[in-house]
Amino acid sequence: MKKLKYDVIVVGGRIGGSTASLFASKSDVDVLMIEKRQEIGSPVQCAEGVTYGAFETLEMEPSERYVRTRVKGAHIHAPDGRKISYEGGIAQGLIIDRKIFDKELAIESAKAGTDIMLKTSVKDLIIKDHNVCGVVAKHLGKTIEIHSNVVIGADGVESNMARYAGIEAYRDPKNIASCAQYELVGMDVDPEYLEFYFGSKIAPNGYLWIFPKGDGVANVGLGIRGTVDNAIDYLNRYVSKLDVTPVELNIGGVPVSGPIEKTYTDGFLVVGDAAGQVDPITGGGIHTTISCARTAGEVAAESVKREDSSAQFLKNYQSKWRENIGKSLDKSVKYRNMADKLNDKDMNALAEFIETQDLEAISKISVLKFVGKHPNLMKILTEIL
Ligand SMILES: Cc1cc2nc3c(=O)[nH]c(=O)nc-3n(C[C@H](O)[C@H](O)[C@H](O)COP(=O)(O)OP(=O)(O)OC[C@H]3O[C@@H](n4cnc5c(N)ncnc54)[C@H](O)[C@@H]3O)c2cc1C
Repeated sequence: MKKLKYDVIVVGGRIGGSTASLFASKSDVDVLMIEKRQEIGSPVQCAEGVTYGAFETLEMEPSERYVRTRVKGAHIHAPDGRKISYEGGIAQGLIIDRKIFDKELAIESAKAGTDIMLKTSVKDLIIKDHNVCGVVAKHLGKTIEIHSNVVIGADGVESNMARYAGIEAYRDPKNIASCAQYELVGMDVDPEYLEFYFGSKIAPNGYLWIFPKGDGVANVGLGIRGTVDNAIDYLNRYVSKLDVTPVELNIGGVPVSGPIEKTYTDGFLVVGDAAGQVDPITGGGIHTTISCARTAGEVAAESVKREDSSAQFLKNYQSKWRENIGKSLDKSVKYRNMADKLNDKDMNALAEFIETQDLEAISKISVLKFVGKHPNLMKILTEIL
């Protein structure tokens, strides 16, 4: 350990932690990032799909060291097997190797000046007069106290930091998608398209994904909610029909409740999965985490320079991230609630309707005809179209 006092301490060393520490360090303050694991980026709990926008936020060019494939669209499979394909939008992006990417991001942060402690688990926050002013951590059997002006919690879906800081961060387990994923060799897939499969038999209240990584390798996984069954059982059922070989298995949870109400308090900010900053429809959290973590790092640095780490000042973080992605996350929560009410028949009917329409030039008459036959789909169609 290098010092016992930093301007900013970041708890968690993956994309949320590395982005926040990178932008805080770039703003010329003293930053320590603490990661409980011995290596940054491992194990991977991700399908590794990311938008180009995430790299724009990072002000980085995607590097061939971690880019596995570039995808231009998606094939979406309804429960009855009907397939809809589209290109562009959120289906366009990169499949990366997160073991390499996450570590490279930490390297960038270290180059900008961040100190990093590995195999160090933060056990508690130091709080004086309701002000978070450091962490209590365990490193190789030793308990240490490190002080700071601001702590940023980037400790993922199982976050404790927000709760320690006194922020209401309880998440109903029903709002956490339970996920399982294999990296498989021998997959016969379109290398330029993502694949999504829907249906209660394949992935109840969720979906199965296939993200190509090139040369017949792909991440094949699924997320489910609202069932007592395990994600891995559904996944094994699907994979058992394929002639493939697994080289990696990941299990993890995605918070799909939408963001928590308050993401700051005196001396403390929370970002990424720990703050529920994940798109509740897609479960994608890389681009949203990077966007919010950059803001957190910059606001924390500004608070150090102004010698004001009060909640009153730090709430600028919440106003800024809400301005950037708040509306889109709120919309996704609304769509997800609607999608939760759809059964297989509804999804098949929607797929049939979309398949037979030119979505750019859809007519009111065709929508009215359709909802006449499927009145329960009226709300979702009028929202989407
Ligand atoms: C199966 C699966 C597939 C996904 N696929 C995609 C995808 O394709 N695209 C996409 O955009 N998003 C995807 N996501 C979501 C995305 O992975 C997350 O939103 C993103 O990784 C969140 O980053 P984070 O830094 O907030 O948290 P995490 O990545 O969870 O990082 C938290 C870090 O904090 C550390 N930590 C925790 N507690 C402590 C402590 N007490 N002390 C010190 N360190 C601590 C952890 O070890 C970890 O390294 C997927 C998620 C899952 C589970």
